[in-house]
Parts: sequence; structure tokens; C-alpha cells
Amino acid sequence: MHDHRRLGRELGLFGTDPLIGAGLPYWLPEGAAVRHTLEEYVRGLEQRAGYQHVYSPVLGKRELYELSGHWSHYSEDMFPPMEVGGEQVVLRPSLCPHHALIYRSRAHSYRELPLRIAELGGMYRSELSGVLGGLSRVRAIHLNDAHIFCAPEQAVDEARAALELIRAAYADLGIRSARYRLSLPGADGKYVADPRMWARAGDMLSDVLAGVPYESAEGEAAFYGPKIDVQITDSAGRESTLSTVQIDFYQPERFDLHYIGPDGGKHRPVMVHRSIIGSIERAVAHLIEEHGGAFPAWLAPVQVVIMPVSEAEVPEAQRFLRRCAGLRAELAGPERGSLAARVRASRLVPFQAVIGSREAAEDSVALRLRDGERLDPLPSAEVLARLLEAGKPR
Ligand SMILES: [Zn+2]
Repeated sequence: MHDHRRLGRELGLFGTDPLIGAGLPYWLPEGAAVRHTLEEYVRGLEQRAGYQHVYSPVLGKRELYELSGHWSHYSEDMFPPMEVGGEQVVLRPSLCPHHALIYRSRAHSYRELPLRIAELGGMYRSELSGVLGGLSRVRAIHLNDAHIFCAPEQAVDEARAALELIRAAYADLGIRSARYRLSLPGADGKYVADPRMWARAGDMLSDVLAGVPYESAEGEAAFYGPKIDVQITDSAGRESTLSTVQIDFYQPERFDLHYIGPDGGKHRPVMVHRSIIGSIERAVAHLIEEHGGAFPAWLAPVQVVIMPVSEAEVPEAQRFLRRCAGLRAELAGPERGSLAARVRASRLVPFQAVIGSREAAEDSVALRLRDGERLDPLPSAEVLARLLEAGKPR
């Protein structure tokens, strides 16, 4: 497998600077194109699955994390609080508390449930500098997160549907190397003490995993509940979690969340926490490694490179470039060297559109694929339709 840090540098996707700091990468234009496409893809997937998107700030008062339980169970992974005007504010270590407050901001009837709130938002972890590297371990994380507020009897179906979304996304993204882990609490004191709650949530998640091969692991749960982790392996053979699905009885209790049931009384919802592709950073790191930089056509930073064979075909190539609106297209003219050299330089680009004198005269384009296959020249409109089709997921 390829190392995403080396490829990321080579392909100009992202970088770091000691003055910004360890674990704080920036995204270069081509990396940003991949990230933007991935974010739009996930938002579309969620929209079609009935999620509503929100935005919430990356800061919150210390009291918020005391209420959520992060302060007493998770503070060693959090940045120290900042004093502002006699208050302490904290860079958030997760999005859950903000979403619980959004749910609590108005009353809810059982008819509105399941209520699925999604956000692609920032969160921060004070990882030690020794473990930081590239995009896979960072201090500033952008998480594809969502919380489903539902009645207890809806939680298993919702968690199962989330797992289905993860599978669909992995198929579209070409992620193959994944295994499932049921993460349970360990013996140490970082988990909230409520044996009945753990057993109930754990049973529900086993239900969700019925028929799926998985391993159980103690000591890997969130402090507030067990979770299904979808595990991936990086180029160094290190395993990490990309996607998760969790069933949580604890935070609804802490935030005193409720909905009005069919009986007119107040009932406690369950929170299903789920992330389809995990953090954008880790997802892109994994995609770079999995594909060796040769992204699926719909995700590639540059989808087509247009190559006029000689100076005479440059105007024709420019005309074709203008017609490629909606695709990430680039022109590589003869000033960049021989045709063979230009083909080699764009070996990771899904399509190379070659225009020689014959093609220019006939308004056709000769496509080359990155596996070396050379197609016969086709009318340019046909080539364009083919490129646009390949530019969509799957
Ligand atoms: Zn959460």
C-alpha cells in the first residue's frame, strides 16, 4: 500500500508548516477539490436518507462539557480551556453536545421522530505530537457527523440504516479493506457507570450486526456507550476507525431530552451517533492509500487532461476545454513537452483527451485511459457525454 503522506506531497494535495503546527495540515487546491467533492457527495447521500443539516460553533462553554460528561471522562483528549470575559470556553472534542442542545431548543412530538441532524463540522483533540502524521492523525478534525434522536424501539432500525449508508458509501468510494468491531467498555474508570444501560445498548448493537462477521473489543467504547466501529488499515499496517455507529442512552439523560408520546406524556429519546466516512482528513488519507493516488473518476482532483498534439491544435483543444464545464479539466499543451511526456505526467488522471490534426479536422477526440488503453477517436460530443457520465459517483 502507498503512504498517503508521500503521495499527498507528490500530488500537491495537502501540506504542513511548522509555524501552523503539528497535526494541523492545510489543503492545496487539488486536495481541496477532492475534499469538496467528497463533502458534497456525503451531504447528498444524507439528504436522500432524510437527514437535515445544521451548523454549530466549534467552541462551547466549559459547563456544556461538564453536563455532557466530556469534562470528567474525556478531558485528557481536550485542549485546555480559554479564559474570555470571566468565562471558560473550550474547543469542542465532539459535536454531540451542540446537537443535543439543538434538539432541546424546541419541543418534539413522537410524530417527528426519528429526527436526523447532520453536520460536517470541526472538532479538536489534543493528540500528542509524536503520533501525528499527514492527514490520518490530526488535532483539527472535520467530522462527517450526525445524531438521530428517536424512540427506543426505532434505534436498532436507525443504526442498521446507518450501517447500510456506510456500505453504500464504501462501494462508491472504492473502499474495500474494512472490518467490523463491536467496541465495548473496559475495566478502567473512564466509562460512565450504569451496567444496565451498557448491556441494553450492547444488545441492540449486536442485533444491528446480526449476520455480519465482526469482532468484539473491550476498552474501545465511547465513554457514554458502546459502538460499532468500521476499521481500516493504513500503509504501515496500523488499524484505525473510519466510520462508527453508536447507541446512546446517557447523553439524552444528561441533557434531559424528551419528546411527547402518543399518550401525551414525556418520553426519553435515544441518541444514535453515526459517521459514514468518519473525519474528512482520515477518509482522504485512506482514499489516497487505497487508490495509490488514482482516485475514482468522480473524485479525482483533475478528471481529464486535454492534450493538443502540436501548436496547431491548441485552439481546438481550448474550445473542447470550454465545453468541459462541470468537469475538473486541464489543458496540457506542447510547451509541457512531447505527447509521451505529457501522457506520463498525467498517468493518475482518469482521462486523457488527445487532439491531433485528424481529430481537429473532424471535431473528434481520441481518449486514453489511465490503464494505458487507447480508444478510437469519437465525435467530441460523444466523448463529452462519456466524461460527464464518469464524473458521477458509480
Ligand atoms: Zn456524537
